[in-house]
Amino acid sequence: MSDHDLSHSEEGAEHDVVVVGGGPAGCSAGVFTARYGLDTLVLDRGRSSLGQCAVVENYPGFPDGIGVETLSTLLEDHAAEAGCEITPELVERVDRRPDGPGFLVETATGTTHTAARIIAATRYGGEYLRPALEDDAFETLDGNDGRGRLDRSYPDRDGATPVEGLYVASPSKAADRQAIVAAGRGARVGIAVVEAARRDRGYPPALAASYDWVRPEEGRAEEWGERETWRASIAERWPDDHTVDRRRYVELREREIDRRLAAYRSAEEIESTAQRGQRRLLDRLDEDLVLERAAEIAADRDAVEVST
Ligand SMILES: Cc1cc2nc3c(=O)[nH]c(=O)nc-3n(C[C@H](O)[C@H](O)[C@H](O)COP(=O)(O)OP(=O)(O)OC[C@H]3O[C@@H](n4cnc5c(N)ncnc54)[C@H](O)[C@@H]3O)c2cc1C
Repeated sequence: MSDHDLSHSEEGAEHDVVVVGGGPAGCSAGVFTARYGLDTLVLDRGRSSLGQCAVVENYPGFPDGIGVETLSTLLEDHAAEAGCEITPELVERVDRRPDGPGFLVETATGTTHTAARIIAATRYGGEYLRPALEDDAFETLDGNDGRGRLDRSYPDRDGATPVEGLYVASPSKAADRQAIVAAGRGARVGIAVVEAARRDRGYPPALAASYDWVRPEEGRAEEWGERETWRASIAERWPDDHTVDRRRYVELREREIDRRLAAYRSAEEIESTAQRGQRRLLDRLDEDLVLERAAEIAADRDAVEVST
C-alpha cells in the first residue's frame, strides 16, 4: 500500500498536488512532494525566467557553469524520476472547486485537472491565480493597464497563503531572483505541502514534519532495525490528546515505520545509486564531448600500461 492510499482529505481530486511551472522552483517542489508519494502533476509552458539566462554560472554543483537547456532538462529529469507527471500545458485559470474540496485547474487547451493542493511556481505571471485569491493578493502596477501582479509578500515563508491548500513558491519576495534560491524555496514549499498532507492523514503536529533523508544502514544501532523500537518511539511521541481510532493509528504508525526503514541503504545500494546517478548525467552530456573524453582516458591508460 502506498502512502497515497491512506489519503483522506484528498479524496475526489485527481491529483494530490498540481504544480504550475516546471522551472527551478516547480521541479524542486515536485521532487519533494512526489518522493513522499503525493500524486504530483507539473504543468509547464509559457514565459520562463530560466530560459532567458545566457548560461548559469552560480548554481552550486556546476563549477564551470551549466547551459540553460542542460539545467532545465536535468531539473525535469529529476522531477520525473521522483514520480511527477510533467505536461507541457499553459495554465490559464486556477479556482476553488465548486463541487468539492481542492482546486480546479484550466489550461489553454481546455483541459481541466483537479487537485487537493496547488503550488504556483511561475516567476512571471500569477493572473491565473486570481479566481482563487482575494483582490488583496495583487498589487496594482503603474502602466500595466490597471492590471495587478501577484504581491510577492502575500505568501508566507513556506509559500502558504490565506487560501488553504494554495501555495506560492514563485514569485516570491526574496527568493525568485537567483535560480538556486528559487530551487531552495520550491523545496521548502514542497516540504510544507508534505507536512500539511501528513496532518490531514492524521499524524499529530509532532510527527507531521517529514525529512527526506537517506541514511547508511552501516553503523545503525541494531535496535533501530527492529519495528518494535520504532513502535515504542512513535507511541512516546504521539500526544495523548491527539485521538484517531485504533485501526487508523496502527495504519499510520506502521506506514511511518515502513518509511523510516526504507530510508536506510546498504553499502551495495549506495554504490549502485552513485553509479546510476553518474550514468544518468552521462546521458545528458554532449556525445561528442563524452567520446572525446573517453578517447583521452583510453590514451592515458595505454600510456600508463606501456610505462609499467
Ligand atoms: C536575463 C536573465 C538572466 C538571469 N541570469 C541568472 C543567472 O545567471 N543566475 C541565476 O541564478 N539566476 C539568473 N536569473 C534568474 C533566474 O532565471 C530565476 O531566479 C529562476 O529561473 C526562477 O525560477 P522559477 O522556477 O521561480 O521561475 P522560472 O524559471 O520562470 O520557471 C517558471 C516555469 O513556469 C512556466 N510557466 C510560466 N507560466 C506558466 C503557466 N501559466 N502555466 C504553466 N507553466 C507556466 C515557465 O515556462 C517556466 O518553465 C536570470 C534571469 C533573467 C531574466
